[in-house]
Amino acid sequence: MSLMDLTKKYESPLFVYDTAVIKKQYERLMGAFNDIPVKLHYACKALTNIEVLKYIRSLGAGLDAVSIEEVALGIRAGYNPSDIFFTPNSVGIEELEEAAHKGVSVNIDNLDVLELFAQKFPNKSVCIRINPHIMAGGNLKISVGHIDSKFGISIHQLPHVLKLVESWNIKVEGIHMHTGSDILDAEVFLNAIEILLNAAKSFKDLKYIDFGSGFKVPYKKGDIETNIEHLGQLISDRMKAFYKEYGRTVDVVFEPGKFLVSESGVLLSKVNTVKITPSTLFAGMDTGFNHLIRPMFYGSYHHIENISNPSGNPRIYNVVGYLCETDTFAVNRRINEIRVGDVLCFHNAGAYCFSMASNYNSRLKPAEVMIHEGKDYLIRRRESFEDLIKLQKNTGLFD
Ligand SMILES: *Cc1c(COP(=O)(O)O)cnc(C)c1O
Repeated sequence: MSLMDLTKKYESPLFVYDTAVIKKQYERLMGAFNDIPVKLHYACKALTNIEVLKYIRSLGAGLDAVSIEEVALGIRAGYNPSDIFFTPNSVGIEELEEAAHKGVSVNIDNLDVLELFAQKFPNKSVCIRINPHIMAGGNLKISVGHIDSKFGISIHQLPHVLKLVESWNIKVEGIHMHTGSDILDAEVFLNAIEILLNAAKSFKDLKYIDFGSGFKVPYKKGDIETNIEHLGQLISDRMKAFYKEYGRTVDVVFEPGKFLVSESGVLLSKVNTVKITPSTLFAGMDTGFNHLIRPMFYGSYHHIENISNPSGNPRIYNVVGYLCETDTFAVNRRINEIRVGDVLCFHNAGAYCFSMASNYNSRLKPAEVMIHEGKDYLIRRRESFEDLIKLQKNTGLFD
């Protein structure tokens, strides 16, 4: 079925995900490393539909969860609790306790919490999230490794970590870093790895070292992306040297979110209005930042294609949403002539789109469809008005 046919069948707006793209990316990432043991934990905050989680599990991945609800989704999707890694920030100790009771691996990013957790779970191994203070990431909002970041335990506090590990006899099974999204330069990433490996030498019982994620994908033709093959080669070489120093091998873990699912997804949306003002040609969509917030939140570029009029004369558009808010998807974008009723396709809508969707303006969330081996499957029905109000209680006071 073509994307146009899918829009007719399931209506607009609609998210569509192609499992073949997820598989290609999974295999590409696994294939980038040679002769070192690599495991991938899918960072599910990118896209949490349970069918997608199940599919990624079937490829052999574990799961990286950042909330207890994501842990529960992972268990629902059939992940073994021991293959789920809980990497939260600023959550209460109760949430970590619940994860530990479920048998999930817990990644701790706070000195006080490390001590508290060790008191409550003296026999449970933990992973420690280190902040190497390397400035990675496309912009400050997605960079989480810098000096002012709330994430991780500062590398400068390593002596303090070691003191706690010794006095509470904490079993440290892994160390972790995640410097942020959109790694552009392999050298910068390697610098962070160097810092983590240096810290790793202080822990004798490691089972894995987790380098997080942040692999950048292209958002348009010719866009820069993380050269994963080059990076994989550099990391493989560096790890082999580390294994010699450390005396044995330990698993290398990555937590790709965007890399696995971004390019697998599109958002299909109908054109409600076309408006010519003295300065600008607007295309007004039946969607807004309630469904795709990345352009407004991060300034992200999403390629937009008019799939109903692919050979129309290109004109220059501002593509905007239907919210009572300035929700601009694209400014001065060259797109084949747009007519009312046309369907536009927003690319790279697999990661951080549906999972960041809201009901702002009391709008309903779109349906999600998965394409697998040439067939289309509805994996979330469109919300209804009833869904929107089902949690509200009528007091009867004003009826
Ligand atoms: C968000 C997140 C990731 C995934 O980042 P991507 O840029 O989507 O690959 C990985 N690890 C942790 C701890 C995260 O919070």
